Amino acid sequence: MRGFVAGALGLALLGGCVSGDGGSGFGDRASALPPSLAYRLTQSLTTEVGPRLAGTPREAAARDWAVRTLKDLKFGRVAVEPFTIKGWAREREEAFIVSHGDQALAVTALGGSISTPKAGITAPIAFVASYDDLLLAPPDAYAGKIVFINDRMKAARDGSGYGVAVRKRSRGAIEAAKRGALAVAIRSVGTDNTRFPHTGNMNYDAAVKRIPAAAVSNADADQLERLHAMGVPMRLKLVLKTRAIADAPSGNVVADIVGVEKPDEIVLLAAHLDSWDLGTGAVDDATGVAIVVAAALKAAGPEMKPKRTIRVVLYGAEEVGVHGGDAYAKAHAGEIANHVLATEADFGTGRVWRFASKALEADLPFFDSVAAGLRDLGVERGDNKSGGGADIAALAKKGVPIVGLSQDGTTYFDYHHTANDTLDKVDAAALEQNVEVYARVARAFANR
Ligand SMILES: [Zn+2]
Repeated sequence: MRGFVAGALGLALLGGCVSGDGGSGFGDRASALPPSLAYRLTQSLTTEVGPRLAGTPREAAARDWAVRTLKDLKFGRVAVEPFTIKGWAREREEAFIVSHGDQALAVTALGGSISTPKAGITAPIAFVASYDDLLLAPPDAYAGKIVFINDRMKAARDGSGYGVAVRKRSRGAIEAAKRGALAVAIRSVGTDNTRFPHTGNMNYDAAVKRIPAAAVSNADADQLERLHAMGVPMRLKLVLKTRAIADAPSGNVVADIVGVEKPDEIVLLAAHLDSWDLGTGAVDDATGVAIVVAAALKAAGPEMKPKRTIRVVLYGAEEVGVHGGDAYAKAHAGEIANHVLATEADFGTGRVWRFASKALEADLPFFDSVAAGLRDLGVERGDNKSGGGADIAALAKKGVPIVGLSQDGTTYFDYHHTANDTLDKVDAAALEQNVEVYARVARAFANR
């Protein structure tokens, strides 16, 4: 049946305007019009492939989807560039406040976490108000306990709350283990107030004992906070079963609309193909995939003859350590100097509101003129300090010029890395504004 579904949606994909216009223009009228190419791509990836955790057969299915789709859309060169990663999968995740009637908490294992023993870990909770407080605690402060870290993430248009909040996810297990903890649980790194816990990658340190790590949904974290405020000691039972997968296959999908005048010069549009396993990865990052594919076609025009090559790279294994970004920079080391621009879409579906850059001083007037051409779309000129995004960071470090287009991320972290990241969260009108912005930028650099 999968073949039939794929075929039907594949036809639907091509039913519209292949040039990327989708026939719908953009703006608030879009909802009354037929779905655009970008929306249909988002729907197709999240429906036909669904969750696509790095290193699993579902990520491989996403690569197959991308190759098929990009060929159908008449990209000139479409290739998979494979690499392998250390894979990981979750199998079981449960937690109970055993001191208070065995209340079940909505929890999820953090990506990369080891398992608990089969019967779980049952221990007193050490309630730690923030990651900074954890860092101040002396060695052995939490011996024999499960550390719970309670920082809240603040919502912001530029997503600036994430950098601070994510520290407890990436390093909480290391810092808690250094202080004797048996396991760590964190308030979800997310801005919702639901029972959907947020997963995401976590790290171990070879010099520190590995302990299991989980995220608790924000609503359940509130419950722990209230019990803690009552001053009663709590005991938690945490059961995690996860699996490490050696040499798991991943890969980048690279597709070119070959330039007619300077085919060796490359305008690179980036997004990532993998997602976390809990939801269907709609806002992270199917919309990014859809934006860059539709924008590349729109920039190339109906003739598909840009001056320079417009390259779409759909990266693998971003979520589990940005392996695709590193693999691309390595595989293309010889042509990095040929990249005239790299830009990335990996922040959901909110409207673009700022154009930042990382360009040489002498080239700033051109970047300024491109930014000025986006004013009617509500985009302001930002600074010249853009890092671009995770997957193109390796290129930025090597001096590739960068445009960083800030999408409105006010609600992005309500769904990010949860089972609730599904197609219904996609704002079709905002998606079209993104396509138009990315297309204008790509066209300006490709035809400069
Ligand atoms: Zn992402």
